[in-house]
Amino acid sequence: MSPDILAKYEVVIGLEVHAQLLTKTKIFCGCSTQFGDAPNANTCPVCLGLPGTLPVLNKRAVELGMQAALALNCTVHEHSRFARKNYFYPDLPKGYQISQYELPLATGGYIEIEVGGGRKRIGITRLHLEEDAAKNLHEGFKDSASKGYVDYNRCGSPLSEIVSEPDMRTPEEAYAYLTTLRQILLYTGVSDCNMEEGSLRCDANVSLRLRGAKEFGTKVEVKNLNSFRFLQKALEYEVDRHIGVIESGGRISQETRLWHQAEGYTVSMRSKEKAHDYRYFSEPDLLPVHLSAAWREALKIALPELPEAKRNRFASSYGISPYDAGVLTSSRELADYFETVVKAGAPGKAAANWMQTELLRRLNDSGKEITASPVSPNALAELIQLVEGSKITTVVAKKVFAKMFEDGRSAAKIVEAEGLGAQVSSDSLEQIARQVIEKNPENVAKYRSGNEGVFNFFVGQVIKATRGQANPQAVNEMLKKLLGS
Ligand SMILES: [Zn+2]
Repeated sequence: MSPDILAKYEVVIGLEVHAQLLTKTKIFCGCSTQFGDAPNANTCPVCLGLPGTLPVLNKRAVELGMQAALALNCTVHEHSRFARKNYFYPDLPKGYQISQYELPLATGGYIEIEVGGGRKRIGITRLHLEEDAAKNLHEGFKDSASKGYVDYNRCGSPLSEIVSEPDMRTPEEAYAYLTTLRQILLYTGVSDCNMEEGSLRCDANVSLRLRGAKEFGTKVEVKNLNSFRFLQKALEYEVDRHIGVIESGGRISQETRLWHQAEGYTVSMRSKEKAHDYRYFSEPDLLPVHLSAAWREALKIALPELPEAKRNRFASSYGISPYDAGVLTSSRELADYFETVVKAGAPGKAAANWMQTELLRRLNDSGKEITASPVSPNALAELIQLVEGSKITTVVAKKVFAKMFEDGRSAAKIVEAEGLGAQVSSDSLEQIARQVIEKNPENVAKYRSGNEGVFNFFVGQVIKATRGQANPQAVNEMLKKLLGS
């Protein structure tokens, strides 16, 4: 696509995100929400939609929905109401889904995203509660070619649907929005946001209009965006497709399309003409939801520190760069680890460096989460303090860290057991330095004729000869003395 053609159009994107709320039981019955149990193990007459059963609202689901809404700067309404969304599908045994329609739990929020060094506010239209449908299984059985299977374990799991304003203008912004939203939900602890297990799902609405036009273009809904990368790729594909259709004189038809990751394209799933008329009406089996001002206020006060606030505080209180603060607050667990290291006595900058180089690299290589780190925050702080107090050199400290990570021993124990703390005496340092100088007469001549850059060569050789145990400061002084004479 040529830049001239791209520049003619403005992309308009809005996202609908479903996040499963972290309750122990389903939203309208007492069945477990545990993922991965045997098919249809977690079912009862209510979530199987048997006649004569009645739903009972799970208070914890409402509370988690309120926390999510407050963290997204929404207004949580005193009065909201459940509604029936009517449609027939095998994964929906009642023939309707209990959702919210005219009176959702919360409206009018926003989140701030960062893209290309700039910041942008993306509006959130609404957050409402609803029950999840069951899962249709179309493959994996002997007779899958002729029969379909349904697992009702997921049916009735509590969801929050979060609908954004059509405020995003590029696939990158959509990616940043979903990443930021996920981070806030994780920090708030309302959902585990596990995309592989379906706890976080995303649909996108995308349309194009001529730059400067007020009217929106015809929008297309894209489904099946089960990863952050899929979302961006599918939107990039749709933008190209829209421009191709419009530039060749065609019209975009309003439809729902499915993203096929393996082939890298979207295909039409259903057109507007076939779209459902859900015939919403108020759910007669549930009372309207009334949320007291006191409850809403208490939850607002109890919200944890959110990612953006934590990033800013880390940068200002610990003297670390905004980039480092961003990495270290990428999850609440990582941020907690960092703060514990600092509270145990390590300087912020050193703690940030050690975590981002040695610790995160080794965790990543061994496929471990920060919460399963073999090196505790206090143990890392102890190691950093040994370096800061010149008890061991950085080169030695890295070797010590590798051993700590392997067997969980403390830095002090490893240093003592392996004699790593032994400082090189000034006599033997002088001896080693003299040997290095004797072996390199050409470099000595260079140095003495004014090439000071060669000094670092000598420092490196001496430290190497002491197997990293010499204090660099002492090596510097010794070499200056010997080379100067
Ligand atoms: Zn049930």
